[in-house]
Amino acid sequence: MAVAESTLTEREIPREVLPEEIRNRFFPAEVEDISGQSVWACMQCGTCSGSCQFAQEMDHTPRRIMEMVRTGLREQVLASRAIWYCASCYSCTVRCPRGIQVTRVMMALKSLALRAGHVNPRDDAPAFYESFLRVLRLFGRVHEPTLVAAYALRTRPTRVLGMMPMALGLVRRGRMAPLPDRAPGLAEVRRLMEAVEKVRGSESAGAREVALRSAGCPQAVRAARREEVALR
Ligand code: SF4
Repeated sequence: MAVAESTLTEREIPREVLPEEIRNRFFPAEVEDISGQSVWACMQCGTCSGSCQFAQEMDHTPRRIMEMVRTGLREQVLASRAIWYCASCYSCTVRCPRGIQVTRVMMALKSLALRAGHVNPRDDAPAFYESFLRVLRLFGRVHEPTLVAAYALRTRPTRVLGMMPMALGLVRRGRMAPLPDRAPGLAEVRRLMEAVEKVRGSESAGAREVALRSAGCPQAVRAARREEVALR
């Protein structure tokens, strides 16, 4: 559902008048380095917020998040619920008139929030992401029953019981495989995931490439190179 949004709200204080102690000057560059996107290209048009299906649930809309990043409000952005409500649907990305891949910015922010331990215990979204990655590492592909069970066990275990009738119905109708099946490329998926873990810990583009190379993952190195060329 599209959301109309004014381009300025009272929650936004011009960055020039914010006290230095609440601004992190390095935050925009940190986000740009990880996401590969220029936050300074944003013209605050609000198209991303208007396109976002979850903007109404967010504490800060995508446009506001972009401005908060530029302002250096690191703590507020990383503690925000908005970054976890982003479903990576790419609606903002295909519509942004400045060609900013807002989804990538959101992904970078999720990654930074996890690293910084900024996870709201009442928010289930990080648990879902972590369960998804765990299942991917185990089987090389997503197996829905395992994913749902892993996610429910991390959040509200009793939910598993409530889901059983639906799960059994899906299995009976052949819509869901009861047992997981390992993907033929499992070793490669695991190598890619290890490379990503190393990249996560790298501070610069150069260090990222070194980490990818040492992970012995030529596909990932090629992808990183393609991206760097596209960004020039
Ligand atoms: Fe900025 Fe693009 Fe969002 Fe417009 S659509 S506010 S330019 S990120």
